Amino acid sequence: MDDMNELFYQQPYVKEFDAVVTDCVQGKKGWEVTLDRTAFYPEGGGQLADGGKLGDATVTDTRHKDGRIVHFCDAPLETGTTVHGTLDWQKRFDHMQAHSGEHIVSGLVHKKFGYDNVGFHMAADKVTVDFDGIITDEQLRELEREANEAVWANTPVSVDFPSADELKKLEYRSKKELSGDVRIVTFPDVDVCACCGTHVMRTGEVGQIRFLSMSHYKGGVRIEMLCGRLAMLDAAKKTEQTRELCQMFSAKPDELVEAVKKYAAESEAKDVRMAELTKKYFDGKFAARPDGDGLVMEFEDGFKTSEMRKYCDRLAAEGKARVAALFSPAEANGKAGWSYVMCSRSADMREARKALNKKLNGRGGGDPTLVQGSFFAPREEIEAALTEMFK
Ligand SMILES: [Zn+2]
Repeated sequence: MDDMNELFYQQPYVKEFDAVVTDCVQGKKGWEVTLDRTAFYPEGGGQLADGGKLGDATVTDTRHKDGRIVHFCDAPLETGTTVHGTLDWQKRFDHMQAHSGEHIVSGLVHKKFGYDNVGFHMAADKVTVDFDGIITDEQLRELEREANEAVWANTPVSVDFPSADELKKLEYRSKKELSGDVRIVTFPDVDVCACCGTHVMRTGEVGQIRFLSMSHYKGGVRIEMLCGRLAMLDAAKKTEQTRELCQMFSAKPDELVEAVKKYAAESEAKDVRMAELTKKYFDGKFAARPDGDGLVMEFEDGFKTSEMRKYCDRLAAEGKARVAALFSPAEANGKAGWSYVMCSRSADMREARKALNKKLNGRGGGDPTLVQGSFFAPREEIEAALTEMFK
């Protein structure tokens, strides 16, 4: 297919077109359809493929294959017939906003810091751009502001094929050494770059550029961003989240961070108080229990395993029981049961665990002095089995 038939280059805003089906074969990913001309952009240069309709068939993907542009369709089309193509324009325009936004950001980074874009990846939920140098948080904020100023300037974007001589004199960004016709996309004062993607006609159409995050990546940085409609949807989602949080914390948006900090501090203080009370509770239980060398079983609810373990081990270690067993209600896969901790200084708890797990539909592990796990059996059966074993 020559350039003239690549409508997405001739007229990037073409949403519908007619074309003749030149081939249609069944492949692994559906019917592979080629046309005498197309407005469907095949995935490439970091830009995602177009989707839409060809007649009644849905185009699920568009790719370069063996020098042709192949439309992957969910139904066959008859070779030689004329079909009407309709692009999923919302998707394509999302891609154009994202791709042009990426050029603005990459051009500015190159101008300001001299770093190169060494990776560009477009996904449905974000655009990822990698640069081969470090950018600080403050520089990132400034970059975002300048990128949006370039959007508001609403300058026309141009696409040219300079002659070999012109190209030699031209300074432009490019990932690789190029030969033949080089397609140069220019954002005045911001970026000149060799690119095969589709772009907006004026920078204003990018709408907005929003950075989501920046992280260190391979000696440089990775920036995640959104442009245009998707940036707006992301902002709307975050506004809604903020609104919900404000309601939860009875705070105004500007007071939200302080309110969450206060809540976290209070929660931590409660944890400390709770640990003190728990210790007091178990100390009291321990003191109230007479010394002995029999089996002690207790059923408790609402304590952490670590607290249960400590108390159980103390009963066995300090002369209150030969075997101490603590249980609390547990649930797994919708089945109710009991989680257990069992301690002893004289009986081999590993052996006991094996036998009890078998009898009480249990699982768990541990060492000869302390085992823990869960039994999926009624309380009476557990009590009976332990009494039988340690009587
Ligand atoms: Zn590009």
